[in-house]
Amino acid sequence: MKVYAIAGRKISIMRQKNLSNDELQDRVDVFIKAIEDDGLDHDEFMELFASHRFNTRNIAKAAFVAKNYFPPEMYIDADTDVRDGLIKILSNPECGNRTIVDNVLLCLAIIGDDVVKKQFWEWEKNPMPWRKSLYVGSEFYAQKGGYTFDEEGNEIKLVYDKCHELRKGDYKISPIKIGKVREADCPMCEMKLVDIVTINGNDKRLKHIGINGTVTSTICVNCVSFYDMYSKYELDGSANLIGEYEAKEECYVKPEELEVLANNTYSLGEEVHPHYGIHNNANTIGGFPHFVQDLKYLDCPTCGKKMKYLTQLHWDTIIEDMEGMLYIDICLDCNVTGAFHQQT
Ligand SMILES: [Zn+2]
Ligand SMILES: [Zn+2]
Repeated sequence: MKVYAIAGRKISIMRQKNLSNDELQDRVDVFIKAIEDDGLDHDEFMELFASHRFNTRNIAKAAFVAKNYFPPEMYIDADTDVRDGLIKILSNPECGNRTIVDNVLLCLAIIGDDVVKKQFWEWEKNPMPWRKSLYVGSEFYAQKGGYTFDEEGNEIKLVYDKCHELRKGDYKISPIKIGKVREADCPMCEMKLVDIVTINGNDKRLKHIGINGTVTSTICVNCVSFYDMYSKYELDGSANLIGEYEAKEECYVKPEELEVLANNTYSLGEEVHPHYGIHNNANTIGGFPHFVQDLKYLDCPTCGKKMKYLTQLHWDTIIEDMEGMLYIDICLDCNVTGAFHQQT
């Protein structure tokens, strides 16, 4: 455990839930000192940020002065001076350091106010010289802030503002059920398909999702590790795979493991702040996902628009020995969900 001294008091940084405001302020002070000394522990910062979502205004100030642009979450509450300072860095045609460009774009994306959005769209239309050093444009970086743009520059929201944790509990009275094994077989590996998540959108805690009925997302637990899988839902709770799944795949998941999955008791837990799921080992619905690889929001196979992130599940919480994360996105216009897998 690390111990820091601030104003003569010793403060330890450790995994702790429900810190008081004073305790949080102490930790913010520790982070600022660490930034000034160029010794910020990213994991400690992210863990506390995800669990407590404290205000980062002063951290952003210190980080900007120290020319420290990672992790970008430090900048989420940056004031307008810091924001404008970041924009100024990238407005310099000489700015050619790819790491700096990359990190500053992510910091701005996460600030995500109207000025940033306007600037991102401007850079998308009229690229700066640094654009040549990047694989993707600023509309991709914007996704870090939970939004992107369509071809006319209109904003598309990629996340829900509200977030709930999924907790083990009485799933029988929960508006969310995880993992129902179906009769139908996967066309690729012939294992039973699974309704990985069923959500009753009529529950008042989930009204913000915008579904007047039930959403079900169907996948093959085995094949979703290799393919993005899409299904179309009806509001009565039924769903069927859509897309072409013609390859033949070997099945690595055992039938008894599906039974374990079907017996999980994850249900709708309390509301948490939108960034709660980005670093905690938490299964969540709504808010921001924790991408273990690159940012990814699926394109709807029916209308082609970006889908919205709906829910994330840590595989090892529902199936033993399975690693990585499962993400479910949704297109409300087409009644389609998409599922994909990431692991380190
Ligand atoms: Zn399969
Ligand atoms: Zn669509």
